[in-house]
Amino acid sequence: MKKKLADTIKEIIQMVDTDKDTQQEFNKRLITENIRRFIYLLGIVIFSQIVFMILEIVGVVNWYTAIFFMRILIIFLCLAFILTIHLIQKNTFKKKFTYLEIILTIMQILTILIGCYFVIFMFNSGIYSFSTLLLVSFVASLTCVKNPYYAGLVFIIVFAAMSIFINVSILSFSLWYGEFFIGLVFMILLYIGNIMNYNRHLKLFLQEKEIKDMNEQFKIMSQTDDLTGIYNRRKITEVIDDYIGLSQKHHKSFCIALIDIDHFKNINDDFGHSTGDKVLYYFSSNIKFLMHSTHVLSRWGGDEFIVVMPNCNDQEGSKVIEDIRIGIERYRFPDVGQVTFSAGISSYEEGDDISKLIDKADIALYASKKKGRNQINVYNSEMKKEDRFFSNI
Ligand code: GH3
Ligand code: MG
Repeated sequence: MKKKLADTIKEIIQMVDTDKDTQQEFNKRLITENIRRFIYLLGIVIFSQIVFMILEIVGVVNWYTAIFFMRILIIFLCLAFILTIHLIQKNTFKKKFTYLEIILTIMQILTILIGCYFVIFMFNSGIYSFSTLLLVSFVASLTCVKNPYYAGLVFIIVFAAMSIFINVSILSFSLWYGEFFIGLVFMILLYIGNIMNYNRHLKLFLQEKEIKDMNEQFKIMSQTDDLTGIYNRRKITEVIDDYIGLSQKHHKSFCIALIDIDHFKNINDDFGHSTGDKVLYYFSSNIKFLMHSTHVLSRWGGDEFIVVMPNCNDQEGSKVIEDIRIGIERYRFPDVGQVTFSAGISSYEEGDDISKLIDKADIALYASKKKGRNQINVYNSEMKKEDRFFSNI
């Protein structure tokens, strides 16, 4: 039983374990959130001080010159903080978060000090209560940045120092005693609550991060071909659609190449399906290596691939693919040796949609197959649609 209680306490006040990068990311998130909370808080303070000042001027509340000037000082301090935060956030400093953290720490310490001042002021006026300090500590703990242990420790030190100060200077010991212990219990509860709050936020942050990472993973999976690791049909359809949109907007053309491995069935038949898979993998890796970095490669299906070449007319595109064709022809695939491909090139013309563009490349590809394979043909309107139905020799 005793052990269980100790374990529960340990569980509550033990911080959630994270790696350094995640912790840093979380700290940045905390700083951003806390800064926002503090700005709201400063806004409320300014508003409340103005309301009190008006009430004091009108005569609804008693006028104390010292307090009136203190209110003005508080308003200016709050405004100065808001302005400083705004300036830091607006600029893209390298150490932006360090500066924001320093500002937060200063604001927390000031908040606690102002709280202490009020407590002493109230004690001086004969009101024996810690409520103001507790409220202020609570607000400061809500915005604790680095480490809840450190924040809690600061409160307890401030509390102890104040207790000694007030005890010595103002109150009779017996009256003070009860208040002190009530305050102390509140402080400890606040300390534990603070750690629990911090841990809850950190856990939520870790869960959120996991979901984000998973989504990213799903996104990559949904646009990647399993076997070759290049873009799949779904992704390249999106890419071509985007380029069609851009071409319509800027009146610029682009072209695509439809590439099909020659006699790929024979490779499967002669060396087995798994060797065929390897050939597809090496084939796509080679094309990726040989093509321009601005071009986009994807597997269209089976042994067919598409290369999208932006800012390129069909003749330029044809030259690029010819270089790749030579490269592949020279390469010796493991187990299989030489592999060649045929390709058809088509360029975007106004009014084309994606299926028209691919149809044109398809017709040109089958012209290449018909003329004997291992070559490239650019689509022209004289090519007949029937060309694509020619039989496999
Ligand atoms: P052609 O020169 O006319 O293109 O002749 P081909 O033999 O390459 O004919 P085709 O392009 O029609 O053949 C595609 C073959 O690719 C048929 C199918 O068995 C094979 N294939 C499709 N997907 C895969 C795959 O993921 N792995 C393997 N190993 N083979 C595949
Ligand atoms: Mg083929």
